[in-house]
Order: sequence, then structure tokens, then C-alpha cells
Amino acid sequence: MDVAAIPGVPDWLPGHLQDDGIEALYPPQAEAVEAGVTEGANLVASVPTASGKTLVAELAMLSALAEEDSGKALYIVPLRALASEKSEEFEQFEQYGVDVGVSTGNYDSDGGWLADKDVIVATSEKVDSLVRNDAAWIEDLSCVVADEVHLVDDGQRGPTLEVTLAKLRQLNADLQTVALSATIGNADELADWLDAELVDSDWRPIELQKGVHYGQALHLEDGSQQRLEVRNGESETAAIVRDTLADDGSTLVFVNSRRNAEAAARRLASTTSDFLDQEERERLAEIAAEIRDVSDTETSDDLADAVAKGAAFHHAGCSNDHRALVEEAFRDRLLKVVCATPTLAAGVNTPSRRVVVRDWRRYDGSAGGMAPLSVLEVHQMMGRAGRPGLDPYGEAVLLANSHDELDELFERYVWADPEPVRSKLAAQPALRTHLLATVASGFASSRDGLLAFLERTLHASQNADRSELERVTDAMLDYLEVNGFLERDGDQLQATGLGHTVSRLYLDPMSAAEIVDGLRDWERSGGRSSSRSGRSGEDGEEPEEPAGFTPASELVDDGDDDAEADEPPSALGLYHLVARTPDMYELYLRSGDEEEYSQIAYERETEFLGPMPSEFEDNRFEDWLSALKTARLLEDWASEVEESQITERYDVGPGDVRGKVETTQWLLGAAESLAAELDMDCVPAIREARTRVEHGVKTELVDLAGVRGVGRKRARRLYDAGIRTRADLREADKAVVLGALRGREKTAENVLENAGREDPSMDGVEPAEVEGVEVDPGGSSGSGSDRGTGAEAADDSEDQSSLGDF
Ligand code: ADP
Repeated sequence: MDVAAIPGVPDWLPGHLQDDGIEALYPPQAEAVEAGVTEGANLVASVPTASGKTLVAELAMLSALAEEDSGKALYIVPLRALASEKSEEFEQFEQYGVDVGVSTGNYDSDGGWLADKDVIVATSEKVDSLVRNDAAWIEDLSCVVADEVHLVDDGQRGPTLEVTLAKLRQLNADLQTVALSATIGNADELADWLDAELVDSDWRPIELQKGVHYGQALHLEDGSQQRLEVRNGESETAAIVRDTLADDGSTLVFVNSRRNAEAAARRLASTTSDFLDQEERERLAEIAAEIRDVSDTETSDDLADAVAKGAAFHHAGCSNDHRALVEEAFRDRLLKVVCATPTLAAGVNTPSRRVVVRDWRRYDGSAGGMAPLSVLEVHQMMGRAGRPGLDPYGEAVLLANSHDELDELFERYVWADPEPVRSKLAAQPALRTHLLATVASGFASSRDGLLAFLERTLHASQNADRSELERVTDAMLDYLEVNGFLERDGDQLQATGLGHTVSRLYLDPMSAAEIVDGLRDWERSGGRSSSRSGRSGEDGEEPEEPAGFTPASELVDDGDDDAEADEPPSALGLYHLVARTPDMYELYLRSGDEEEYSQIAYERETEFLGPMPSEFEDNRFEDWLSALKTARLLEDWASEVEESQITERYDVGPGDVRGKVETTQWLLGAAESLAAELDMDCVPAIREARTRVEHGVKTELVDLAGVRGVGRKRARRLYDAGIRTRADLREADKAVVLGALRGREKTAENVLENAGREDPSMDGVEPAEVEGVEVDPGGSSGSGSDRGTGAEAADDSEDQSSLGDF
């Protein structure tokens, strides 16, 4: 179909597409148009990776916006990292008056500013929270697009997408729903659920050959074999990378862990470096320098070392800046190989000539060991092979060690169809969260109303038998009632004040229960935890509830109201409290950790909120210790320990530190609201612990670090030079301020202005000598390399924010 023949789209669109080199629609796109996607029809498009799904979404959104009295279009992405990629893509339409907004960040706001936008990009969690917070514009949507909708199958996040789509469709009966999916076997079921037309296609713009490498040959699915020799001492992966490079192609290697990605990149760098010309070397050296600048950590250095030689790794522990630099250099064909964990397969647009799926098993805690990847995941990785317009074809290969494995891999992945997508809604954690939110935000006010709402979900459309859903619903309603989040009056349901707060804060009710119980326990004992309840397990009264949980209701009327909470909880105690909630991903315990953290647990026993489980309760105790490890990381960060030391000590990447810090800020913010709701005395202590972790500083720096432009290091230097508060900044001798800020005039002026000083100018001021601080020779220009990242190099620029741009 010629782009000029698409009905329903704005007049400018065909010309715009033609300018972009798009003359005709790809066949699945044409099918979508024929199915009415530009005329308001609901659509499920199940097509392979890189086959132009984004344009289908754009056609739907732009045609919806072109309608008279149209509302907005919402594009739901599965990962935050994809939100900016997609919005950048849609910004190409701003020249035609289509305003694009991305909604990430806080889960407890109603995103009022988005009301002016035409296209909004957000994760399903964010959309869910906007619905809970009554964002007015949500009812004003004309079109919603759900990207990667096959992820409704994901046990963790799928239910949120499922419930969110159901809510949006309940709010607005005329809403056009477009769902984009990888190729799956049961796309028709998704179409049934969403009352949608179906485009189910395996067309690809470039040919893809799947296969398995074994011995000295590549066995392809069409039955052919290509010789691909593995030299002595060379790995199969290195041989494939070398073979691809001989043909001037690049390779994407998928492995099963971050560590493996890093190790593989390091090893493959010796292969790629032989193929670089002088110009490539120089450009890669520049990129490596930029990578080093991002942060002063081992991850950064390792990545830079590999990149300089033409190889890279890409995983969730890398910072956003790292990832963006790697993706760009790979697209520019400077990087010859990228070793990635499957995050990259989830939608980042980085096609390559060949894909190697090196590991087809991955550690899976619930399976207690290594478990095979799903066919869908492997096919999505494989789908990254072949760059339209650049490569003649793409090849995606698995690696076999034996003839049996060769046969197995063909059966299991090459010839296999992807698994059907199934709703995961009937699981307890998903339901307890979504049932509370559904009642709190007024979608249902009775048990029957809830069950009627659940009829709109994929779960209901896939399961004729409702008994399981009803059983779990009833169990979760009991749970919510017992914990004081819901009240029941006959069949009627109402959220309590606490329940409303929990829903708005976007907390898992179990997290809220853990926090409330911990805080209550602290208050009850007057903050002297050594005299507090004995460890559970020792008193023989094991609660029946899930690990770590005591019903808040048991603690409500304990008749101990006179106890004075005279001692506020410590930062470590609070970090530990939030680290043990299900909303925080804990750090794993490695060998030796159990002993180390048990020791710390006993040494600091009085600081914990709520009872410590007994050592004889293996799993609970271990979870509790992992939370302690996380809490210690946070305490280190909030005690001004260098970032590079933290990443080394806890064996994590800078992106992980950033993630933990953000989650803690959110959870402590929530704890603060809960404590305020319950009229507790510990609010200031929680606020202080939160601010400390936000800025990564000790208590005495909290005030200073809160001034925009001052971060943990600058705050420390100012403090040590005698400037201790925001108010001091307004009065202090400018020469001392300038000296403490290493002679950077612009920075100093900025800081003073942000602190509210009337005359912040540094004209004619000479930096005073400040002990332990060296003035930056290039400082007076004020430019420096103000990248504002979390780097903690000698440079001053790192101080912009706590952890910068991860
Ligand atoms: P998907 O979302 O299905 O993985 P994309 O939408 O990212 O794939 O499309 C892959 C590439 O194909 C993009 O670079 C896009 O510009 C290009 N493309 C999409 N549709 C067409 C078309 N009809 N003609 C030419 N190129 C197209």
C-alpha cells in the first residue's frame, strides 16, 4: 500500500513518511490499515521484531488525534528505558503541532502538566498510578497503544498492564486500543480480550536464518551447512565474531548474566581489536573516554577498556549514559560486538548482522537452578539479526557442545513455536495490590462489583472457570481487611484512609503492612528496642502469615499507648525496614556474607524495627540478612562512602546503586506519609533518613546538599571550610565559597543564587585557600566538564546531584 493511500491520517503524514524514505507500507502495516487501525478500530498486531510495529502505532495515534474533538493518545512502554527512546521518536511530529510528553518519575502525582500534551509515553506502572491519583486527562484519551503486550505473561509486571488496560477501557468505552506483540501462538486470544481485529504475521523486512553452531559448522534451518571453523584456543563465540567481521558485519551476543556479559566482552575485545582501522581506533578511544567520564567505577573502566578495542557489554547494571553510548557506537558500526543480557532484546533498536544466543539457560530462583529460556525470549533475541538496507540477510545462532545438544536446540528453539501468553493475574501479590487500588479509586465498591470488573481482564477471557480467581480474591480481601486497608459492610467494600494512602503511594499492601508494623513496633517499645519483643520463633508463636508479616490489626489495640517513643529510629533501622518489603529488590548473599551480616545483625540488634527472625527459620532469616546487606549499602551511601568503593564492596554496578537509592527514596517517602497518617512521632527521623539517602550525605550536610547545584562532595568541602548551612551560604565570605568550590566561578555563582543570596556575582573575587581543596586551574571559566554525572573523579563536576544521570 502506497503511503499516500492511507485513509484517516493527517494530510502532512504521507509527505513526511516519503521524506523519511518510506514510500510503501510493509505488508503487516498494510493489513493493519485494512483492518481499520487509522479509522478507530481496535487492533492486535503480532509481528516479528523490527517489522515496523512502531509505524502502526503512529498511524493509529496520529489518525486518532486528527479526529475532530479528539482526546490524547497514550503509548504504554514496558520499560522506563524505552520511554525516552519512543518519545524521541515521536518528537519528529512536533513540527506539525503534536506535543509529546513522557511521564516517568514519581508514582504519587497526578501528572497535571501532561494535560497539555497530545501524545504521552509512560510505563504501565505509571499509567496505573495516574489512574489511582485521578489524573483528569485519563478520561480524555482517544487512543491507547500497548507496546510488547505479550509481557502480560510476566508474573511480576504483567498484571499491572492487564488491569491498567481494563481500567482505561472501562473509563472510556470509545477508547481505541492497539496492542503490539512479538509473534506468539495465541495472539487471537489477546484480540478476543481487547475486542480487536488481528494482524498475525511472520513477515520480516529482511530474511532471517536461524541455526545452531556445532563443531566446525553452522547448521541452518533451511538444512544447509556453512563451514565456520573454530581455531585452537578460540571459543565458538569468538570464532563466529571473527567470521562475521571477515564479512564486515557486527555481532550481538546474548548471555545470561551481567558478569558473563562483562567477561565475554573482555575476551572478545582481543578478537575485534585485530579488525579496527586507525580511524575507528581514534573514534573508539574518544567514546571510551566519554564512558570513563560517566562514573568512576570498575564497571565504567571495564566498559571503556573493551570499547577502545571494539567490544562492549550492555546490561541493567550499566548507567543510562553507558548504555546510550554503547548503542550509538554499535549503530554507527564502530563497535563490532556487544555482549548483552536480554534487556537489550526488549525493544532497544540495535539490529546486527549476526546474533549469537550463547546461553540458553539462566538462573531461576523459583526453579532452584538453571532453567531454559522461553522460546519467545530466544526468538526475540534472534529477531535482532539483520539490518534492513545494510545487510543482505540476518543470521541468529545458538551454540551446541554435542550432537545431542544440536538436535535439542533445533527442536527446542529453531523449529519451535513460542509459548502461548497467559494471564498471571490470579497470583496473590498482583491481586492484593490491584484489588485495593480498584476499590480505592472507585472502580468497584462491592465484592460483586470487583468480580464484574475482573471480567474485563485477560484472565477472565482466558479462563471460563472463575473459581480460582474468586478464591484468591476472597483470600486477598480478608488480608486487606485484617490489615486495616479495607472495611467490609456486608457485600460493600470501602477503602480506609490508610488504604487510600497505600493505593495512591503505589505501594504493595504487603510493603505497607511491613512498614506500618515495623513503625508501630518501634513506637510501642518506646524506641528502646533491646527491651522489645523476643525474636519470633523463640517464643513458639509462629504467625501463619507470609514471611515477615504480622497483621497490623494485632498491634492496633495493644493498650500500650502510654509508651513514649523517645528515641527515634536510626537510618540503618529505617533502611532495613524498607529493604525487607516486597517493593525492594534485595541484594543476594554471597558466600561469606551470611556470617558477616549475622555478626552485624547482633552488633546492631537494637536498631531494627520489628523482631528479628530466628536463625532456625532458614529462609526468613536469610531474607532478613539480604535486606540488611541492602540497608548497609544505603547506609554507606548516606555516610559519604565513595561510589566506587560501594560498587566494589557490594559487587554491584553503578546503575544498581542508583536503583536502590531511588527505590529507598520512594519507600521512605511512603513511610513518611503512612507515619503521618497514623499520627506517629517518627516522621522527622524518616524524613532525615530519606534526605540523607537522596543526597548521599551524613546528617550534618543535609541542609547544604539540598541546595541545587551542591552535591555530596561540594557540600562536604563547603562544610569543612566552615559554611554549614544554606543560610551560611547567603552570608559567607565569597572568597571562601569560591575556594571550597575549587575556584569555579560559574558554579559558585549558581550555588549562591540557588541558596537565595542577593548578590551572587563572583566578579573580582579571588578564591581563598581552603585546606585540602585544590583550585581547578581552568576553573575561572566556570565551564569545566559539567556533565552532572555521579562520577567521583578528582573533577568537581560530579557534585551536581547525588548519583547524577544514571
Ligand atoms: P519494531 O517496532 O517492529 O521492532 P520498528 O518499528 O522499530 O520495528 O521498525 C524497524 C525499522 O523499519 C525502523 O528503522 C523503521 O524506520 C523502518 N520501517 C518501518 N516501516 C517501514 C516501511 N514501511 N518502509 C521502510 N522502512 C520502514
